[in-house]
Parts: sequence; C-alpha cells; structure tokens
Amino acid sequence: MKIGFIGLGNMGGPMAHNLAVAGHDVSGFDTAGVKIDGVTSVDTAQAAVVGADVVITMLPNGAILRAVADQIIPEMKTGAVFVDCSTVDVDSARAVAEQANAAGLGAIDAPVSGGIGGATNGTLTFMAGGGADAFATAAPLLEIMGQKSVHCGESGAGQAAKICNNMILGITMIGTCEAFALADKLGLDRQKMFDVVSTSSGYSWSMNAYCPAPGVGPDSPADNDYKPGFAAELMLKDLRLSQQAAESADAATPLGQAATDLYAQFVENEDGLGMDFSAMLPRFSKLGR
Ligand code: NAD
Repeated sequence: MKIGFIGLGNMGGPMAHNLAVAGHDVSGFDTAGVKIDGVTSVDTAQAAVVGADVVITMLPNGAILRAVADQIIPEMKTGAVFVDCSTVDVDSARAVAEQANAAGLGAIDAPVSGGIGGATNGTLTFMAGGGADAFATAAPLLEIMGQKSVHCGESGAGQAAKICNNMILGITMIGTCEAFALADKLGLDRQKMFDVVSTSSGYSWSMNAYCPAPGVGPDSPADNDYKPGFAAELMLKDLRLSQQAAESADAATPLGQAATDLYAQFVENEDGLGMDFSAMLPRFSKLGR
C-alpha cells in the first residue's frame, strides 16, 4: 500500500518504520524535519498524502490535528482512508472524520495504548472508531503496528475508550501511590505490601505491571529514577481530555477531576514536569496530612 505518515515523533517514527519494514511504500512528514529509516521524507504534509491509499497521523493534540486535516484532506485521493492515531478530544476526532467523509474519504480515529516500547516492537493496542469499511482497510496496517485492535463503534469511540482507560489509569496510580505512602508511615515493608496487594483485591496494572515503588515488582520507571515511561504531563493531558469529555457529555467523574487536579498541581506547581507519572509516590512520601 502507499501510505502517507504525518507526525514522526516518539510514537509515529517507529510506527512508520515498522510499516516500511513490512514492505509498504511510506512517505513521511514532520515539521521538525525528522527522518526515519525506510521512510521517504517529504517537505510538506500535502506531498506525503498525494496518491496515498491510507494516511496516518500521530500528532500532539486536537488543534494540530484539525490544522493538518485542513491541509491534507483536499489533497487526498477519493476513497483513501484517513487514520488518526493521536490522542485527542472526542469532538476534534468527530469533526475531522466528518470533514474527511464529506470529501469522499474513509476515516477512523485509532488511538493507541502501549507507549514507545509498543510502538517500537509493533505491539500496540488500537481502539478505533468510524465506519466498518474504513476500519477494514486500515486493519492490516494496524496489525503490523500492533498486536490487537478493537473496533469500538462510530467516530470518536476510539478516543472515548482511550480517555476512559487513561482516566482509570490516573486514578489507580494515585491510589496505589498514596497507599504505599500510608503503608510506609504505618511501618509496613514495601515488598510485603506488594506481595499482598498484587494478589488481593487492591491489585491493578499500576501495582502489578508498573509498580511505583523502586526495587519492588517488575522493572518499571521507578527503578530508573522515575524517568518516563509515560510522563506526568502526558497523563495530565489525557486526564484533561477526560474532564472535557465529561463536561460535554454531562457525566459525573469526581475521581477523574481529583486526579486531574493532583497531576496539574504536580506538573505545574511542583517538580513533576519531565518525571514519570508514577513519581506520585515520592511526592506523597514528602507530604504529611
Ligand atoms: P511527539 O511530540 O514525540 O511527536 C509528535 C510529532 O508531531 C513531533 O515530532 C512534531 O514535530 C510533530 N508535529 C507537530 N506538529 C506537526 C504538524 N503540523 N505537521 C507535522 N508534524 C507535526 O509525541 P508522541 O509521544 O509521539 O505522541 C504522539 C501522540 O501519541 C500524542 O497524541 C500522544 O498523546 C499519543 N500517545 C503517546 C504515547 C507515549 O507513550 N508517548 C502513548 C500513547 C499515545
């Protein structure tokens, strides 16, 4: 397939590379001039999409996605499919899909879970929203870049799944970190805390797979001085998207709001910027009640 790939950053770069390695003809564009092995680099977004069967975007946010969509949709060939893999607000995802559909294109939102490791190793999970035909066209490419893709529903459903998942993740990480900080003050050994909770009803991905306590559980950013991994500011971005969505859908998400406020405090007023999102544990350890 001929593929246009726009946004070749930490995630998009390795994703585009994997498509090229699998034998697809990939043209890539990034405003930072990034070059990726195996990917033909072009000077404009428009040049990347001309003649492409599928165009994939992996961009920082919804405003940038909308601006790029305005540039590329008029240049895409009729019947081509626009696959946005960025994490953006549901409203932007739906607006871009409508714009693409109106121009005779297929469109899906297909945000990912799995981080930079998943992008590099081709083991991402995709959660997609949009028409069945567009999803069927994109599916073989998603299979190269990931190990699982779920078609969640109509446009925006992929983004809805992504922000709900990450809202749970933010909340459980905070809960796990504050429980460790409490356990410390109660004199409970961290390893014993892990041994109990990881096999009891308090278990979660945050405890079992990404334990925020150094030296306990599987290897995680806590064992690497809390270098990200998944940066606290990216968690804050996703939590804010969840609250934007909750507001527009009139949904009660009090813990999602509390988690958003805590990550905002950590990233914007404390030393959380550039730290992994599990560095909430040393943050709580420093605090008293
Ligand atoms: P990144 O900042 O490394 O990459 C974004 C790239 O987009 C940059 O290289 C930037 O130069 C480029 N860009 C910006 N504006 C552009 C434009 N107008 N035209 C072309 N290129 C442009 O970010 P990332 O970590 O690759 O994340 C990309 C998306 O994936 C985000 O929406 C993020 O929330 C999501 N995501 C990231 C992770 C992760 O672990 N990093 C995990 C899941 C989802």
